[in-house]
Amino acid sequence: MTIPPFRRGLHDLGRGCFAWLQPDGGWGWSNAGLVTDSGESLLVDTLFDERLTAEMLEAMRRATPAAARIGTLVNTHANGDHCYGNALVEGATIVASEASAKEMDEFPPERMAAILANASKLGAGGEFFARCFSPFAFEGIRHVAPTETFRGEQIRFVGDKEVRLLEVGPAHTRGDTLVHVPSDRVVFTGDILFIEGTPIVWAGPVGNWITACERIAALDVEVVVPGHGPACRPARALEVRDYLIHVRDEARTRFDAGLSASDAARDLPLGRHASLRDAERIAVNVHTLYREFSGWTLPDSNPIELFALMGELARR
Ligand SMILES: [Zn+2]
Repeated sequence: MTIPPFRRGLHDLGRGCFAWLQPDGGWGWSNAGLVTDSGESLLVDTLFDERLTAEMLEAMRRATPAAARIGTLVNTHANGDHCYGNALVEGATIVASEASAKEMDEFPPERMAAILANASKLGAGGEFFARCFSPFAFEGIRHVAPTETFRGEQIRFVGDKEVRLLEVGPAHTRGDTLVHVPSDRVVFTGDILFIEGTPIVWAGPVGNWITACERIAALDVEVVVPGHGPACRPARALEVRDYLIHVRDEARTRFDAGLSASDAARDLPLGRHASLRDAERIAVNVHTLYREFSGWTLPDSNPIELFALMGELARR
């Protein structure tokens, strides 16, 4: 199997698997996938809004009759750029890990639309939030929750094809799930992999994410479709792991020295990872790591304050 080019649209990976890629892979520009066999289909993730999702579903229907009626939709995690299009996949069984389903209920599209509508009143944080998310249309999107949840691992079938759902979170979010198709030698990783972009640790612990990267690198697959960025070979999962190890170790030194999380984020040298897209996410990563280092006794950081700090770092 060859690695498809990083071009916007649907890519046939062969053996009934497809990837929908959205350059440049930055804030909200997520990838998705389709697994088909014997006229049946399983969709991996919807997109950030309904216009983008509708365009993707239309391209899938043109590419294969199996997409005419999608039987199963798997949401890899709770971030809206992987589930806010759910309402358009009518009649499908919607599957997510139990932890992801709960997290989706806490941050539905209605909440995203409300924050964006009020962004101008939220200072520097609102300004950067709007810069990241104003290309998308959240107004009027209805939250459609998973209809079925699982914990740990689940094996499903699409026609005769086995699809393994592997819960590896909490890591990026609380319930991250990989979708592995062993016979096709493909894995869809959701946001456990950002390729050529900066990973963002919303949940942690970071150790789970590091383990997940190593698990992906060890899978017997030819094509990896990340949550953001170009498709790749499995070894590239180790680049994501190396970023996380670097940031964990550098943040720990600053935590032990008594630096505040925000000052640590300003100070931390990214080294060879500095060229990754959206490097300002270091702000969220250090804040989450500090909570982890404190034994989760530090309170959750205010998301708007995190966006303010990210905006400051992005301007540098
Ligand atoms: Zn994403």
